[in-house]
Amino acid sequence: MQDQRHIFATYAQPEIEFERGEGVRLFDVTGADYIDCTSGIAVNALGHAHPHLVDALREQAGKLWHTSNIFRIKGQDRLADRLCEATFADRVFFTNSGAEAVECAIKTARRYHYSKGHPERINIITFEGAFHGRTLATIAAGGQAKYLEGFGPKTAGFVQVPFGDHDALKAAIDEETAAILVEPIQGEGGIRPVPPQCLRGLRELCDEKGILLIYDEIQTGMGRTGKLFAHEWSGASPDILAAAKGLGGGFPVGACLATQDAASGMTVGTHGTTFGGNPLAMAVANAVLDIVLAEGFLDHVREMGKVLRQQLAGLVDSYPDLLEAARGDGLLQGIKVRVPNTEVIAALRSERLLAVGAGDNVIRFAPPLIITAEELREAFERADKALSKMRDRLKGAA
Ligand SMILES: *Cc1c(COP(=O)(O)O)cnc(C)c1O
Repeated sequence: MQDQRHIFATYAQPEIEFERGEGVRLFDVTGADYIDCTSGIAVNALGHAHPHLVDALREQAGKLWHTSNIFRIKGQDRLADRLCEATFADRVFFTNSGAEAVECAIKTARRYHYSKGHPERINIITFEGAFHGRTLATIAAGGQAKYLEGFGPKTAGFVQVPFGDHDALKAAIDEETAAILVEPIQGEGGIRPVPPQCLRGLRELCDEKGILLIYDEIQTGMGRTGKLFAHEWSGASPDILAAAKGLGGGFPVGACLATQDAASGMTVGTHGTTFGGNPLAMAVANAVLDIVLAEGFLDHVREMGKVLRQQLAGLVDSYPDLLEAARGDGLLQGIKVRVPNTEVIAALRSERLLAVGAGDNVIRFAPPLIITAEELREAFERADKALSKMRDRLKGAA
């Protein structure tokens, strides 16, 4: 394998090179098939090379790639209409990435208060273990030391409270608070769901204090938990929501959704992006939505979520020495493990099953939403084989 001499050394990657993908499978340069339970971190919601997405991209590629947002982009109108029809939102701003969507959400919240005569309301409250992206503002929002270290002064305007600590949260709200920013399930933080009653509590608290509720649904959205957005399980709508990852099914695109009122400060000239929402991205994202919103699709995700839960629980029962407990929802689930998660992930990979790590020593399973029960069964035969070999190896070493 060729040395990556000229690439920033920011990733420790295994020595596999994937050449193509089809559905839930990836094929390496030798032709070996891997079952992909990472979906490029919850991005390839419809798997690899989905014919409907390939067609949409091909068709658009022959027509128009880019004009920038100095001109109207037809696909944006259509996608925004459909997203607003399907959610709490009235307004959408399209971006290139998740972090850019979160940045837009933060700016929208601050600008809301500014335009209502409260420019002092700038602070965003977030939760320990959160992940909101890698820009300077979003690493401050995430508040994790490992992502902040060495990058200079932490961007001001973010206040963090412990996960699940209601008293600390209430105490943190003051006259400078603009919004609460929360992931309905912490993804990178280790698949930690916020109970539905807590989301409802956050909604009430925000209403009571006159602050905005922002959901980061970049990982949990686009059908991942069996609803279009995970917060729908709670019935507690946000004022602003960041989406990305699954939105483009592998084409880079994000979105900041907001109510009419929350978006009221975002007037002409206050915000922009060169690439965000370009015609290629819109063509693919509209095609993703065709499928995710189709009759029965989210039912399928819910059913597969149940199958995945049973399988993970089964693995935990069979390998209590290696695995601690399973958690998560829909097709975003994980197992907290008792050995370093990187070792378990490597063991799974040697049986050609791909999973991805998360915080709190969790291995995360986020297969394409189109995965079938048969494919899940095959994936877990591979997992069983990997864990059984791993146990033998550890016993041999002891
Ligand atoms: C992935 C992710 C982000 C960052 O998205 P990028 O596209 O990598 O910028 C932000 N928040 C959450 C919850 C994520 O999972």
